[in-house]
Amino acid sequence: MSNMSPDVITQPAEGIFRIAIPVPLPLKYLYSYVISMDSQYLILDLGMDTPEARQTWMNVSKHLGLAPGRVSSVFITHFHPDHVGLAQFAADLWDAPLFMWGQEIDTVYQIFGNSSRNLVPFLEFHGMPHDLATYVDQEQFFTKSVVRLPAQPPIQPLDPLTTWGPLQLLDQPGHTDHQLLLYWPERELLFTGDQILARITPNISLWPNTDPDPLASYLQSLRYLHQLPVKMGLPAHEAIIPDVPGRITEIIHHHDDRAQRILDLINEPHTAFEVAQKLFTRPLTQFQWRFAVSETLAHLEYLRRRQLVTFRETNHKGFYQTLRDDLAESPEGGTALG
Ligand SMILES: [Zn+2]
Repeated sequence: MSNMSPDVITQPAEGIFRIAIPVPLPLKYLYSYVISMDSQYLILDLGMDTPEARQTWMNVSKHLGLAPGRVSSVFITHFHPDHVGLAQFAADLWDAPLFMWGQEIDTVYQIFGNSSRNLVPFLEFHGMPHDLATYVDQEQFFTKSVVRLPAQPPIQPLDPLTTWGPLQLLDQPGHTDHQLLLYWPERELLFTGDQILARITPNISLWPNTDPDPLASYLQSLRYLHQLPVKMGLPAHEAIIPDVPGRITEIIHHHDDRAQRILDLINEPHTAFEVAQKLFTRPLTQFQWRFAVSETLAHLEYLRRRQLVTFRETNHKGFYQTLRDDLAESPEGGTALG
């Protein structure tokens, strides 16, 4: 019927279609979900605006009968380009309203709107060499090229008290400040977005003008999600997660290990870039340096806020150092860090 390969659409649970949308990223696919309910469809996440992704959606729409009037809403988990990029295309194709959490909408129109933000001073302050910082800053122009947002009507804010049929809408911080996760209590299904992934640990990054302690927010979110009854996790990338609580425990351990490694590494003052160089010993692409530094910063700020690491500014650069017992001011000659 169409030239669609059989694994583009899979059906992990009754009435739930998982769609593999190709994205030009190392992760290769964004998984969207088409959830059927009372002969209407809810669509979750979209992909980047590329010709391949548009073609995939056109084939899938024909195959599943996603037409104007059949698609009641499109939900987007968070502002990242691989989730929101096709927003305008989706609005045109299905003539359906698009929704996100309100604060996430502000971010999306800021980042992909006309203004550009200059990240170079921030990255240089944290020790990144000028040329690399300039490259990382330029990435935003690639990102902008794969995102097209509807102007009228724009993406609409979800009401925090909304449920959608049997689905609960969760607002979870850490990966971004307000990621939308869908929870279906009766069926014990959790659409995990990028909050929980099967193999890689989701990126938790510190950037200017966002959550100043994203790792703490993320760990708190994981502890909340851990106690939900969940039989299957349906993520936006990689494989389906059969054991969500078990996977959450692994991710928490990963962050504990990394925090301990950082504490061991910085007995001398280090910029965040220098810490990242020691943590990530395999060669990184310029693209990966962006995340290496912003993730390291999330950890360093987490440790600083818990008084395990000190911070000082010297010559317009920020330096972090593990707070050692013998440096702590105390008449008894040292304080336990607990
Ligand atoms: Zn993401």
